[in-house]
Amino acid sequence: MPEKPEVITVVKSLKQKILEDTIHSVDVYWDNIIASNLDDFKRNIKNQKIHDITTRGKWLVFHLDKDVLLIHLRMEGKFTFRKAGDILNKHEHVVFHLDDDVELRFHDVRKFGKMYLIDKNNYLNEVPLKNMGLEYNDKNLTSDYLYEKLKTKTIPIKTSLLDQSIITGIGNIYDDEILFMSGINPKKNSNKITKKECQKIIDNTYIVLEKAIKAGGTTIKSFTSEEGVHGLFQHQLLVHGKKNDVCPNCNNPIEIIKINGRSTYFCSKCQK
Ligand SMILES: [Zn+2]
Repeated sequence: MPEKPEVITVVKSLKQKILEDTIHSVDVYWDNIIASNLDDFKRNIKNQKIHDITTRGKWLVFHLDKDVLLIHLRMEGKFTFRKAGDILNKHEHVVFHLDDDVELRFHDVRKFGKMYLIDKNNYLNEVPLKNMGLEYNDKNLTSDYLYEKLKTKTIPIKTSLLDQSIITGIGNIYDDEILFMSGINPKKNSNKITKKECQKIIDNTYIVLEKAIKAGGTTIKSFTSEEGVHGLFQHQLLVHGKKNDVCPNCNNPIEIIKINGRSTYFCSKCQK
């Protein structure tokens, strides 16, 4: 699943191609991807220009004339560029008709992707962004903030870091890396995390996400942010995905467990 660095990689590559393009119309072949009212979505998006593309958490935010178009890639959503008239792939579920007969197509094998079209003056106060937590690089992300959020939670810290209403943008891969770098056992209860550990988590979240963004994200399994776009951070991962491998610090075998259904990689010696 794409996390913050992968989403930023997608945005960078889209911006090079479609900034200041107009969305002339949109065709939707799988209705459930559109979370807003479908007819309104199709009607209102017409003839709006794409002025900027940013991110909020793992959402792509297309800033149009009147509205924002929010897109979440979920498991395997990605974009392809085609010319008008090119044969539609069966996994291309939404087609945006742009300038010069270019089509931006949303390709999603799992069909879990989601799109909203919302008034640009109010979108931060509406679903899905209204309860979003702090970004990894927000200066309000302090040990006091994180400690307050965690102190009432009895769930594992691994699960709390996936909670987008606390820190947004972290997914399964970077979660494992952050906890390894912080020397914290992923099973540790959130309310047992000290303020000092909160600071370690915040610092390492920043370090690992910045590094991953520089590397263009992580390419594993089926995820590529866009056709022909491959991140390189998988070569810098310390524990996540390291089956039959040893800890880079102590040579202890890396352990794999499930926490709340998510595969979790860690070193039981280094992460007490
Ligand atoms: Zn170790």
